[in-house]
Amino acid sequence: MRALVVEDDARIAATLDAALSSAGLAVTCRADGEEAWFLAGTEPFDIIVLDLGLPGLDGMTLLKRWRSEGVMTPVIILTARSHWAERVDGIEAGADDYLVKPFRPEELLARLRAIIRRSSGHATSRIEIEDLVIDTRMKEVTRGGVPIPMPPQEYRLLTYLAHKAGSVVSQLELTEHLYAQDFMRDSNSIEKLVGRVRKRLGNDVIKTRRGFGYFVESPDA
Ligand code: CA
Repeated sequence: MRALVVEDDARIAATLDAALSSAGLAVTCRADGEEAWFLAGTEPFDIIVLDLGLPGLDGMTLLKRWRSEGVMTPVIILTARSHWAERVDGIEAGADDYLVKPFRPEELLARLRAIIRRSSGHATSRIEIEDLVIDTRMKEVTRGGVPIPMPPQEYRLLTYLAHKAGSVVSQLELTEHLYAQDFMRDSNSIEKLVGRVRKRLGNDVIKTRRGFGYFVESPDA
């Protein structure tokens, strides 16, 4: 999953980066509204954390512009405690949630998980596919009740496919969602990653649709 953080305060941006990275997201930070506007319009993000007070293009204008241009990525806005009217305006402009500064990273993560669950149609923090269970809060994977230790990148791959269960996901989409923007993208890396996950879980969970990509069977199929 990829997160875009738009925040001009370097300290807050670093806090957000650390919190989101620890939750397993690939994070891209931008301090400038114009740059963020361009980036979210041209690259796929799963969540955007948006500060409203930005130099140049302010957060509210940015949000309205994205929504009017069809960028529907979930957005959490950051506002100061005293500016309650901003929160109302933000929600009306198409934000999915807001966070009041100063905030605890735990609160951000809780809200973020709720939004990602809503946007991908999962009502709980558990994803179950037959005997495979992913606990997205604890970052734990079990199969038939047996815990399967999984390094972060493999976990991200599995979780992304599981969130999209029932549809084929291309290598390109996986690369874009798993690696931060500046990460060196190697076309073989997804294949290798899938190979490692299969070694841990067995070959029957992640399936290949040759020439198109990978998929996990929908739980209700
Ligand atoms: Ca600011």
